[in-house]
Amino acid sequence: MSDGGPEVVGLELPRDTAGFTRRECPGCQRPFKMRPGPFEARAVLRKLQAFFSFENAHEGEEGLPLWRCPYCGQRAEADAFLTPAQQTHLESVARAWANHVRYEQLAHVNRTLSVNPRPTFVAVAPEALPGPMDPEADELLRTLPMLCCGEDLKVLWDWDQPLYCPYCGSRHGGLSGRQQVQLRFIQE
Ligand SMILES: [Zn+2]
Ligand SMILES: [Zn+2]
Repeated sequence: MSDGGPEVVGLELPRDTAGFTRRECPGCQRPFKMRPGPFEARAVLRKLQAFFSFENAHEGEEGLPLWRCPYCGQRAEADAFLTPAQQTHLESVARAWANHVRYEQLAHVNRTLSVNPRPTFVAVAPEALPGPMDPEADELLRTLPMLCCGEDLKVLWDWDQPLYCPYCGSRHGGLSGRQQVQLRFIQE
């Protein structure tokens, strides 16, 4: 089946050494990191659909989860939180992939037209698919457990205001867990 067809690489977004993938709020543009989930594959599928229509396109209508920016609280579909570099990368992979599929279709028509002495077109081999993105750097973000959803989140180290859980939207106080416990002792 795959006689020199394209190797699909680079569809996974890079992770840092702790396994986190970078996100960026479409509103305030602040960075944070989450562990990748099934959303990634659906975001890629959606990019691909922009370049050529799938017969099974309805599978992509499942929709993407709504996430909330941990800092400013803006809600948006998950693919809006891809960083500009990730968006560009996924689009280039999708475009190259679509070109390969079209090439395979044309080449197939050419092969089956062998009875035709003068084929009216030549399928031009497309460029190779882009390689994976650069590895994700480890930078100064702190890891916070989102107890509401059982997921970890990496946020700006010096952020001392309330945070929203990106998954469920719960608002968490601006104090560390230890400070909250101390505060409760004081109040009781
Ligand atoms: Zn934001
Ligand atoms: Zn949550």
